[in-house]
Amino acid sequence: MSWLLTFDGYDPADEKRREALCTVGNGYLATRGAWPGCPAGDVHAPGTYLAGCYDRLRDERDGVVLENESLVNLPDWLPLSVAVGDGDWLGPETAELLAHQLELDLRRGVLTRRFRIRAAGGEVVTGVERRFVSMDSPHLAGLSLAVVAEGWSGRLRVRSAIDATVTNSGVERYRALASQHLTDVSAEALPDGVALVTAATAQSRIRIAVATRTTADRPGEWRPGPDASHELVLDVRAGDVVAVQKTAAVFSSRDAAISEPATAAGEALVAADFEEALGRHVLAWSRLWRRFDVDLAGSVDSTLAAVRLNTFHLLQSVSPHTADVDAGVPARGLHGEAYRGHIFWDELFVFPVLTLRLPALTRALLLYRCRRLPAARRAAQEAGHAGAMYPWQSGSDGREESQRLHLNPLSGRWLPDATNLQRHVGLAVAYTMWQYVQATGDTDFLADHAAEVIIEVARFFASLASYDDGRDRFVIRGVVGPDEFHTGYPDAPYDGIDDNAYTNVMVSWLLRRAAEALEMLPPTRRTELTESLGLRPEELDRWALLARRLHVPFHDGVISQFDGYDKLAELDWEHYRREYGDIRRLDRILEAQGLSVMDYRVSKQADVLMLLYLLPPGELCELLRGLGYDADSDLLKRTVRYYLDRTSHGSTLSALVHAWGLASLDRGEALRFLDQTLRSDSGEAGMHGGTTAEGIHLAAMAGSIDLLQRCFTGLSIDADDALRFAPSWPRELGELRMTLRYRRHQLAVRISDDSVRVTSEPCRADPIRVALRDRSVLLHPGDTVAFSNGG
Ligand code: BGC
Repeated sequence: MSWLLTFDGYDPADEKRREALCTVGNGYLATRGAWPGCPAGDVHAPGTYLAGCYDRLRDERDGVVLENESLVNLPDWLPLSVAVGDGDWLGPETAELLAHQLELDLRRGVLTRRFRIRAAGGEVVTGVERRFVSMDSPHLAGLSLAVVAEGWSGRLRVRSAIDATVTNSGVERYRALASQHLTDVSAEALPDGVALVTAATAQSRIRIAVATRTTADRPGEWRPGPDASHELVLDVRAGDVVAVQKTAAVFSSRDAAISEPATAAGEALVAADFEEALGRHVLAWSRLWRRFDVDLAGSVDSTLAAVRLNTFHLLQSVSPHTADVDAGVPARGLHGEAYRGHIFWDELFVFPVLTLRLPALTRALLLYRCRRLPAARRAAQEAGHAGAMYPWQSGSDGREESQRLHLNPLSGRWLPDATNLQRHVGLAVAYTMWQYVQATGDTDFLADHAAEVIIEVARFFASLASYDDGRDRFVIRGVVGPDEFHTGYPDAPYDGIDDNAYTNVMVSWLLRRAAEALEMLPPTRRTELTESLGLRPEELDRWALLARRLHVPFHDGVISQFDGYDKLAELDWEHYRREYGDIRRLDRILEAQGLSVMDYRVSKQADVLMLLYLLPPGELCELLRGLGYDADSDLLKRTVRYYLDRTSHGSTLSALVHAWGLASLDRGEALRFLDQTLRSDSGEAGMHGGTTAEGIHLAAMAGSIDLLQRCFTGLSIDADDALRFAPSWPRELGELRMTLRYRRHQLAVRISDDSVRVTSEPCRADPIRVALRDRSVLLHPGDTVAFSNGG
């Protein structure tokens, strides 16, 4: 059962969430699990998206011109339905649905829909639909439908089409804004059941081609209908099975190795055979699972099922196929239109899972950022700063894509949005580059790409910092931390806050790493880079000074989230919990009451605690001491507790980071947060008041796997390149079994509450060092090391 996600029955209120969770995709292309042909509206949100395919549209609100770039919803290749006689096409809204089940097979990447439906004339049809988006050949997808005439004989019509009238209408809150991205649409029904839609996006002028071929297991003519549709009319007898197969090919003008999308789609379709494509797709998934499966032998089945579901959606959002397109890590996967498909800092939570299994994929995704270094430099310059300022929300070309106004659905008011002041996104970009190099030893990547990004981001933060006489410290003013509730102070709510502790401590970390990265370069490259960037010794001296003298605020024996946090009022949490139940979005609740969340000590998500997510406690204390502050594990413990009581967990990232922070303090509580993270989308939270319907939460999904692989195992790669474990593995989770790739070794790892065992597959690679806490052993290819934990 842990390989299956099943939904029994049909629930219009939950349909969109199920569509998101039943998305099939391959990191290049993804299609939501909507009933083929059901129109977008209150119940359904069909959608097909291509990684990196964005388009920009304009609107005006209250005199403000709004420009939004969105991941484009492509022509819908799914429509495939049957009708009895001259009746309606059978669907949940047009006929009586007697039974319905959705089953997503995670191992094979196949979605099956089973249904019984009664037509207006009383005829019952049983159907089984299967669909996949090929993990083998990224442009191909398939949909099959087998129907049985249950106890009646007569005329059955089958219709297959490509719907080119689609718009981006998957998110209720964006409905009032422009959504027509497809222009120059041509829809043709060609002979032999072949249909072709071509279109171009309105502003980015990406040309798109979607072609399908539909065949049936019975002779008959597929008659071309209006637009890109075909109809087949058959006479059936009671008990007859009619099987139809539809193969789709999707290309865009962004693709490599093609002449033109329509030609490429036509050729791919001619070469494709449905069953063969399906077989190869299943094989491709089995190869991915060999690397990515994380087993929890002896644990609760539903926990394992959630782990697998999350891994599955991670790989459907970013896979080896993403490496071939210039795309980043979209926060909501390719599963819906939330946040318009933008890229935030969420890769920070995704890369640890990829790097230890498919390092080449992390590398390819990091290049998305490297290519946008010039845009980040321009943004810094325009803002009057040096270096590179990465945007909080990124899309096609790396400019800032954050919205300027956002709608509070509770009050109906459009409000200014200053979350783009989250400069810390640049820290995430630099941190992930550094981590990738540490974990892989890929110093070529450092020399060719990462060092320049790290240095330019360091430069930006150094220029953002100014000296404060009164404090005799450097300060960073006017930013927003990970907690998006505080975009300013009560009297200036959209101007940012000062000295966000997370930002300042990580800047100190980064300035040290930037100098180190430069040192690590081969001398010629170091000289080249120093010259081309005009790096002077005085600048490096200033970095060193800043790294020791940045201001970090404290109050009541804990690290303050930002300067002045202690002046804010305490909220009556009990009152709001009682009144509202779900208080994740306290910002919206308070605004609708004419109050402001900025007046209170209330965080949307982990902010200070992010420090504990990114840095081991020892390193964090050392960093704080290096800044001239007293810091020990008691300070960290107090800080975790303090913010735990003042966080509404309005982002799914919050539970993840809290699980991490609590792992060594309170195992039971950490496990509760692990459970929440694992089920952010598939559990109750995603269903009630959550936004899974608009797309999965990729960082929480990946982060839940990372909690297992790194947090509870204490896995780290240390300075002497040893793969080190320091497990506090919870017995409740059974035995962890996973495969890791490390320094060209393929490792099978088993961890239980009392042992750690690592086996390396035979290969040509130098031995690696594997350690359990301070015991370390050299592991040769083909050998096994076993430690008893705690003994
Ligand atoms: C969170 C951000 C996150 C974004 C995309 C927001 O709700 O506050 O930290 O990057 O969602 O996942």
